[in-house]
Amino acid sequence: MDQQLLDTLRVIALPMKSKFRGITVREVALIKGPYGWGEFSPFLEYEDEESAHWLASAVEAATTPRPQLFRTVVPVNGTIPALNDPAQLQEIVTSFPGVKSFKVKVGENLVDDVARVNLIRQLQPEAKIRVDANGLWSVEQAVEFLKLVGEIEYIEQPCATIKELRELKSKTTVKILADEVLRKASDPFEVNLAGAVDYLMLKVQPLGGIKRARALAEHHKLPVVISSALESAVGINYGLTLAASFEEMRFDCGLGTGSLLAKDVAQLPIVDGEIEVSEFEPNFDGLDVATERFEWWNNRIMRCAELLK
Ligand SMILES: [Mg+2]
Repeated sequence: MDQQLLDTLRVIALPMKSKFRGITVREVALIKGPYGWGEFSPFLEYEDEESAHWLASAVEAATTPRPQLFRTVVPVNGTIPALNDPAQLQEIVTSFPGVKSFKVKVGENLVDDVARVNLIRQLQPEAKIRVDANGLWSVEQAVEFLKLVGEIEYIEQPCATIKELRELKSKTTVKILADEVLRKASDPFEVNLAGAVDYLMLKVQPLGGIKRARALAEHHKLPVVISSALESAVGINYGLTLAASFEEMRFDCGLGTGSLLAKDVAQLPIVDGEIEVSEFEPNFDGLDVATERFEWWNNRIMRCAELLK
């Protein structure tokens, strides 16, 4: 990565409306190149090897032209964190106006999980429900959950391993979507998904950018859902760009997570369940981190850049 690009680095801290993934502030790093801003925001605990893919995506966004786009707006799902307070959940639901599907985080406690799904169903009877267990379940736990949950659109990464997903698939007709099993793989092109999953989750940063994410979809020949990794509007917009670059998109995408942030560098409003792919200059007012955190990110970027050489 050249010094000129690194010199554009901004590191900001975005406050969140409620706790998600155990955090209340989301730190992200942004770099600017001839083609605009790129986001580098692996979660703080991620190792450099994994984070390097995120950097490849940021560099691609800043330094290469956008792909051909097939639509100007992308339909999104609402994202429901693994919370249990009905009033809080109700408030979150209303922050996703007009969406036609909700992705509910599950996997911590079966009773709470089913109650959470039922509450969302009650609040939004017309909406489709998909759930994401982040690989937390055994095959037996997944089967048990599916028995209790009623009709869902698909289940995202119910178990951690391909072997378990394949076993689960032999026991259920519910569609299964692969997420971690792909983006955490040392080589996602080498993963054999046959008989294990029906759909793929593509996240632009973890998969190393638009070009690589598209190549993965082509390689595995499965329908895709595009989602975000809790990013600023810059990262979300790059995810929207990936989503719009597919000629066929049969699912609502998980790109509405900006609604979980109390402050962002730009507003990408959900209108009638859709977000527009846009061009904007980020507004950093009051968001910059302290020098110590800036240095931490700067060093992290330099280490990851070494790995990309
Ligand atoms: Mg997931």
